[in-house]
Amino acid sequence: MSLVVAAQKEIMGMGMEADWARVLGRLRTEFDDSIYNSWFKPLALVNIEDGCAVMAAPTRFMRNWLESNYADRIRHVWRDENSDVSDISFIVLSGFTTDSSSEAAGAERQSSSYDAADIKTAHKQKNQTTGVNEVAESEFGAPLDPRFTFDSFVVGKSNELAYAAARRVAENDDVHFNPLFLHGGVGLGKTHLMHAIAWANRSAFPSRRVVYLSAEQFMYQFVSSIRYKDTMSFKQKFRSVDLLMIDDLQFIANKQSTQEEFFHTFNALIDHRRQVIISADRSPTDMEGIEERIRSRLGWGLVADIHPTEYELRLGILQQKANKIPEVDISSSVLEFLARKVTSNVRELEGALNRMIAHATLIGRPITLEMTQEVLQDLLRANVRRVNIDEIQRRVADYFNIRLSDLLSARRARLVARPRQVAMYLAKQLTAKSLPDIGRQFGGRDHTTVMHAVKRIDELRLADSVLEEDIQHLERILGT
Ligand code: ADP
Ligand code: MG
Repeated sequence: MSLVVAAQKEIMGMGMEADWARVLGRLRTEFDDSIYNSWFKPLALVNIEDGCAVMAAPTRFMRNWLESNYADRIRHVWRDENSDVSDISFIVLSGFTTDSSSEAAGAERQSSSYDAADIKTAHKQKNQTTGVNEVAESEFGAPLDPRFTFDSFVVGKSNELAYAAARRVAENDDVHFNPLFLHGGVGLGKTHLMHAIAWANRSAFPSRRVVYLSAEQFMYQFVSSIRYKDTMSFKQKFRSVDLLMIDDLQFIANKQSTQEEFFHTFNALIDHRRQVIISADRSPTDMEGIEERIRSRLGWGLVADIHPTEYELRLGILQQKANKIPEVDISSSVLEFLARKVTSNVRELEGALNRMIAHATLIGRPITLEMTQEVLQDLLRANVRRVNIDEIQRRVADYFNIRLSDLLSARRARLVARPRQVAMYLAKQLTAKSLPDIGRQFGGRDHTTVMHAVKRIDELRLADSVLEEDIQHLERILGT
């Protein structure tokens, strides 16, 4: 390829990526999150050839589903966004998924969306494509994603408690803490952990009834049991479970009757010493729109939170995924770059890696850092990090192995005073907070103290190479 052609391609490619970002942006506003995440988000734009926008889906199942359900809408949006595009098509890029059961994974993925028709299709598809008889779901739970196992879950500081608790529950058939309440932001592995528990628990205790479903599906089943005047069997089936997992409980906030029913089920199970596991995007005490008595009961067992990811964990996850696709060559510097830049959550991190894999597969060359920066422009912009002082304080205390309370205390011992200065320094560098604001958050100190700390660390960075390394490391952990 001549240089000129290469340059042209590059320029075209950039416009193309921008179009794609706009198309996705519009689909995101037009469709529910669950639909967007299940169907559109995993897509990668491959190319625009002769007026046809070619997009890659990770599985055949997904491609078929997109073609029969969403093609018209996607075509329409594409035409709107780029008048050169008159048609669209989908291809399957299997390098995209990470294991051989991708068909089943595709089928199951989408069943997490709400539509009952979707769920039926998914079941059918799954049974057709895998031919596996040990059906992964009981008759009323949601199917499990075969990729979401303990083996594929990378453990780091931010999720080790949740992971340990999940393992404990999975490996036992008696009840240690009830309920187990997992909470954390979106895309941090709650659903992954719950599926992993289900897989492990079923294989350790085949006769147990393990049921996983989203709060949305719980509500859906409850509502249809009312509609079909069949609440008795609804109650019966839920109360006969040994291990019940309800994902994304925040969904039933402000939904009075579903909450009520959930609470009865929950109490009945706990009273009978059956294990209950709940996930939500926030802690029980922070759940708004949920009745007080339910909230407090949710916190009776073990509450384990999953924190935002740290750099090492993100890198570990990328390495694991990249290792599963040996045919695609991704240098470690690209992985490190992604781990540094895509800090929002694991789902986005995986999405970024998938897009790079799609590109690499297509152009048949190893992925370079420059390519990554270009292809992921939109994503990288959206991931400009906003750290807050709390997080800085927590990370610094962790890093220097001192207690957070000491970091914020008035103690002047060098052992805590230096880390405190480092934390103040980082707060000044990495947030938009004023000196007085920072002082306030460090146990009500004066702004001159903060100013002094910033100046001192600035000087020390030049003179003290160990400290310089500490700070660089902390900046990396903080994802900046
Ligand atoms: P949540 O339910 O908290 O929104 P998910 O469990 O759906 O998040 O995770 C989003 C994606 O990130 C999934 O593909 C999951 O496999 C992946 N993921 C999250 N955490 C980890 C981890 N620690 N190791 C490996 N993959 C992870
Ligand atoms: Mg989830």
